[in-house]
Amino acid sequence: MKSSATVQHGKRTKVIDLLKETETGTTVTVKGWVRTFRNNQFIALNDGSTIENIQAVVDFENFDDNLLKRITTGACISVVGELVASKGKGQAVEVVVEDIEILGDADPEKYLLQPKRHTLEFLRDIAHLRVRTNTFSAIYRVRHAMIFAIHKFFTDKGFYNVHTPIITGSDAEGAGEMFKVTTLDLTHPPKTGEGDVDFKEDFFGKETNLTVSGQLEVETACLALSEVYTFGPTFRAENSNTSRHLAEFWMIEPEMAFYDINDTMDLAEEFLEYLVKYALDHCEADLVFLDKRASDEEKTRPQHERSELGLLERLRFVLEHDFERITYTEAIDILRNSKPNKKKKFQYLVEDWGADLQSEHERYLVEKHFKKPVILYNYPKQIKAFYMRQNEDDKTVAAMDVLFPGIGEIIGGSQREERHDKLKDRIDELGIPEKDLWWYLELRKFGSAPHSGFGLGFERMIQFVTGMGNIRDVIPFPRTPGNAEF
Ligand code: ATP
Ligand code: MN
Repeated sequence: MKSSATVQHGKRTKVIDLLKETETGTTVTVKGWVRTFRNNQFIALNDGSTIENIQAVVDFENFDDNLLKRITTGACISVVGELVASKGKGQAVEVVVEDIEILGDADPEKYLLQPKRHTLEFLRDIAHLRVRTNTFSAIYRVRHAMIFAIHKFFTDKGFYNVHTPIITGSDAEGAGEMFKVTTLDLTHPPKTGEGDVDFKEDFFGKETNLTVSGQLEVETACLALSEVYTFGPTFRAENSNTSRHLAEFWMIEPEMAFYDINDTMDLAEEFLEYLVKYALDHCEADLVFLDKRASDEEKTRPQHERSELGLLERLRFVLEHDFERITYTEAIDILRNSKPNKKKKFQYLVEDWGADLQSEHERYLVEKHFKKPVILYNYPKQIKAFYMRQNEDDKTVAAMDVLFPGIGEIIGGSQREERHDKLKDRIDELGIPEKDLWWYLELRKFGSAPHSGFGLGFERMIQFVTGMGNIRDVIPFPRTPGNAEF
């Protein structure tokens, strides 16, 4: 038996590089987590650099039984050995083990992640370990690739990245319920003469919240740098327990001076296609795995609920087809005359112009009617935010939503109201306190310019690219109503 004293553990080579190696006969050191240990002989070792494992072959006669017993699923080990051409199928090279060092044991009696199929629900309860599965390590790698691609896309176009505040002093962002930020003693808060909580005594001397969107602040940079984007965390205290909503999620918000609503739709389409293409070009092994995972999952569903295209087909489909662009009014006509509406199959029947579209309607348009991504624009002003540019018809605003198969709304955007008086009137009409928006109105007083922007929900994009059905499975630690473990 060789002792670790005689074999040096050298500089680590990543699994991804070892698997590409064509020169064999060299001594290598590889470190990672044991996926499986078969027949006291074959270790499948993964270090997260790729979805593939490297096989390390052990001649058990050369090793102490007590050491071999510690090579269990989940254990972290360092292996030194000779890289050789593999005799087995499934891999070109493998490592013939000369020495093993256990870096971290994983007691098989207690380690929850065993090499068998676990449900996604179970894995959510062990979010600190789930990244060690093929599914989640693939998702983490795709997330990284998409973050990088987003910065590359905008950088190549001459956009500047701007950090907008996470703690906001305005509660008029209008995109949803907000989380309060306070250091007041909640059991004995200071009170005003009228008996209300006195926020003048609070940390910032006023009420503050976590941001629901960086848009209003990024507009200030837009009206100086022309083309900017913010990419940060956003928080919504909305109690919607759906597979598309998180209480904490990441949003990409480009804002462009001199763009009208049509330029903005062009940019949104180009951006989404760029990201999909980047994923296909750079995440092939992970996407092939996720495609298989999604199709296995599909097979457990009733026939009529299965989607017609697999994950990879869906991604290629988006690249090959232009998005359909129709107005809200055209969409209402299509929906009103649709089969599910006439047969009262929709939960919310479409009758009058002016109603907000539900996700069932959005998905009907995308998945059944057009069978491709759809951009809806020119929405009724009553169902959209105060800052959207009012159209000539006095009824609609220059808003646009991009709807994706399996997801529904993935992007929401608009041309912004750049005319001071129109904006002020709308703010007053809606009873929004002007005291929070004085600076936003000033942007329209001094050097105002036509400008537009949109918000892409990062996790919804990751859902689309990875084919994961639930948004809780595309962010490392999901925050949802009743859940902030980890
Ligand atoms: P929805 O109608 O789906 O709730 P929204 O109209 O509230 O969306 P916006 O305020 O326009 O969405 O936000 C821009 C984008 O942010 C959306 O298109 C979506 O991709 C994403 N998004 C919005 N809310 C959430 C959420 N709670 N969790 C994850 N992503 C979200
Ligand atoms: Mn919402």
